[in-house]
Amino acid sequence: MSIPNVKFHQLLFYIGISLLFIGLLQFFNTFKELHEFLIEVLNGEYNTGDSDFDREKIDAISELYAKRMGMAGGLIGGAISPILVGAFIWYKKETFNIKKYCQSCGKFFDSMINYGTHKDKSLNEHFCSKCYKKGQFTNQELTKEQVFSTILAELKNKNIITKYFVKKHLNKLDRWKKHHYY
Ligand SMILES: [Zn+2]
Repeated sequence: MSIPNVKFHQLLFYIGISLLFIGLLQFFNTFKELHEFLIEVLNGEYNTGDSDFDREKIDAISELYAKRMGMAGGLIGGAISPILVGAFIWYKKETFNIKKYCQSCGKFFDSMINYGTHKDKSLNEHFCSKCYKKGQFTNQELTKEQVFSTILAELKNKNIITKYFVKKHLNKLDRWKKHHYY
């Protein structure tokens, strides 16, 4: 999507919100008119003396209101998916770029584990200072298996479940991803 500054998921979200707004407006307007119509009926404003004619006329108007209510319901219902999908992608995109842990050794950033640096010494928020300095890995020969055994050496519990989760965690890190096409 090439609409300036608005991404597809944002567009989807805004379309959903607009549909919801239009649907709610339609719903309340119809409800208000229906209420007025009922008062008119109760006040006998549709009494012409010909009860069959009156009945038909009232039925026709009631049907029209039912249709309008149905349309409003459709708009509100149809708004839910774009809002949810848009909001979900939006949330994912916003949180995706913020790496909570080093994408090489898998350690969580905190006051002890600091960010690495780019070539120009600005912060690289994807790797920690131990793994990445001045635009390159401090240990270029490092393998995923070495990181795995280092983590295990630091852990008290080395059971099969812990190993499984450590492996899963490592496989998600940018440096150890098998491929980058998804
Ligand atoms: Zn690291």
